[in-house]
Amino acid sequence: MSKREFQTEVSQLLQLIIHSLYSHPEIFLRELVSNSSDALDKLRHLTLTDEAYKALPFNPRIDLELDEENKTLTISDTGIGMNEEDLTSHLGTIARSGTKSFLSQLSGDAKKDSNLIGQFGVGFYSVFMVADQVEVVSRKAGQEQTWRWVSDGKTGFDIEPAERSVAGTTLLIHFNEEGEQYANSWRLQEIVKKYSNHIAFPIFLTYDKSQWNEAEKKSDKIRTTEQVNVASALWRRPKGELKDEDYKELYKSVAGSWEDPLFWFHTKAEGSLEYTTLFYVPSKAPLDLYQAEYKVGVKLYVKRVFIMDDARELLPQYLRFIRGIIDSEDLPLNVSREILQQNRVLTSIRMASVKKILSELKNIATNQSDEYLKFIAEYNRPLKEGLYSDHANRETLLDLVRFKSTKVEGLTSLADVKSRMKGEQKSIYYITGGAESLLRTSPLLEIYKKKDLEVLILDDDFDEVIFSGIDKYGDIDLKAINKASTSEDLNSEDEPDKAESLKPLLDKLKNTLGDRVKDVRASVRLADSPSCIVSDEEEPSIQMQQMMRAMGQKDLPVIKPTLEINPNHEIVQKLLARSDDGVAQDAAWLLFDQALLMEGVTIQDPAAFVQRLNRVLNLSI
Ligand code: ADP
Repeated sequence: MSKREFQTEVSQLLQLIIHSLYSHPEIFLRELVSNSSDALDKLRHLTLTDEAYKALPFNPRIDLELDEENKTLTISDTGIGMNEEDLTSHLGTIARSGTKSFLSQLSGDAKKDSNLIGQFGVGFYSVFMVADQVEVVSRKAGQEQTWRWVSDGKTGFDIEPAERSVAGTTLLIHFNEEGEQYANSWRLQEIVKKYSNHIAFPIFLTYDKSQWNEAEKKSDKIRTTEQVNVASALWRRPKGELKDEDYKELYKSVAGSWEDPLFWFHTKAEGSLEYTTLFYVPSKAPLDLYQAEYKVGVKLYVKRVFIMDDARELLPQYLRFIRGIIDSEDLPLNVSREILQQNRVLTSIRMASVKKILSELKNIATNQSDEYLKFIAEYNRPLKEGLYSDHANRETLLDLVRFKSTKVEGLTSLADVKSRMKGEQKSIYYITGGAESLLRTSPLLEIYKKKDLEVLILDDDFDEVIFSGIDKYGDIDLKAINKASTSEDLNSEDEPDKAESLKPLLDKLKNTLGDRVKDVRASVRLADSPSCIVSDEEEPSIQMQQMMRAMGQKDLPVIKPTLEINPNHEIVQKLLARSDDGVAQDAAWLLFDQALLMEGVTIQDPAAFVQRLNRVLNLSI
């Protein structure tokens, strides 16, 4: 027998599961049954598609055998099985990338953490919530050798050769004190029905059934085997036959969650292509949503046969939070990942699925706005990613995304912004480039406030990148107000001679600031502030440049901002009258630096800024 240690993360996860997360210990059974079901899916797929496996027997079933007296349960499947290497790596290490981030998000508050773990799905290790010893005896399909893996879930496991007549896996669970409640046939049936009713394979329970013996006037125990689940692919049944509870139940086994989904969309397509899709929106965004190695949530079936659950081709990346099933009649069973990437059938299903999901969401947005807000609270950001990557559906996505605004509390849609537009308003305006509080106090907003025009506050870090590529909402222009050209919209009421009279001052400022600015201009967008900075249409804003540098792009060319001066501001008027002395020079720099500061940009020389400020302060006191 050889002794092995668990990978550090496994030990960590085990400790957590066992000591703080046992508010729903019953899920161990769901996790194990779903592992068995996956193993059966895998073997079925191979026997249908791979010559080497075609001759192998395939009698798919999952068997639960209860020994009430000894407080043990075995769970057997006739699935793909595991060899020594599989047992060591699958049950001794954690390969899933989401796990580490999951561990790092735990707070130590059992209630919060159990919600997290509900979304995460703990898998095999959950068995140690209810067991003090687990034996896994497994033989891989097509191989002769069987192996036994034994562990108490503490430090490691032992592995040794064993016997098993057919391929598959048997788990022997020795219940601990916490787990004793599951050494009960009623309880087991209830849990299987709750979580695993629609697992596509039959689940049998063998137990000692009580039967009344009339002759001897007593109850006998008779060893009995009964099927406990309905074992049908629920998604293939007509919608009319399905109740909300059925959908929720299937969700829990498909998504490995015990929370109810927010919405589901069930579609059966007939015609040139035949397929069924059942998509769910989880009520909370998956924990790995923003990780490169996110887990795919949609499983691919062909004619009810499970094919794969890790195909990123099934839906576009921005819809990676969707859980569910695509079941096609037209794909070949042996479809490989490579084929999927350029498969015409899948491309059509995918396009139709995206349209379906987005149009259903739009329905909800229109008819159930409260429910939609719950959705937006979790998924506004991925929808924005869609604006960037999914040009074909951009119009719909623009209607789905929600925005902060200067005009309303909470969030608003572009359709609502459009309906609030004023007669003379030519465009929908937005501001990007920093935290909400910073954006809301930007001098760039002043003229819009004065003219009572709405401006959207786009405070997500990637908003500038995304929205700089979107010029229109329907036939209305979308304009960033930190762009130099946007002010052309504003119908300046200023007389041209005022700008003319400002020219000597503008030249002076330009001289003083030298190559730090691209230009110095009279502004039409300022009301209370003396100055602001803007960028050219095609250039990244100064905040964006700052962010890119902070992210390590050191060799970016320096793109200079344009300084705009408020011709009506008292300081500017006084400067105009002042001769070109030291005070005027200080003022030039202060106007520039304060404009940068207001946009959340770090100024280049804070020491010089403070010296100037103090000189000016000194004069005024
Ligand atoms: P997950 O199922 O989410 O991958 P688990 O911890 O439940 O995580 O299982 C880890 C791996 O162990 C599975 O991916 C699978 O490869 C293997 N495994 C678990 N149970 C079985 C089983 N009954 N038959 C074959 N392989 C299994």
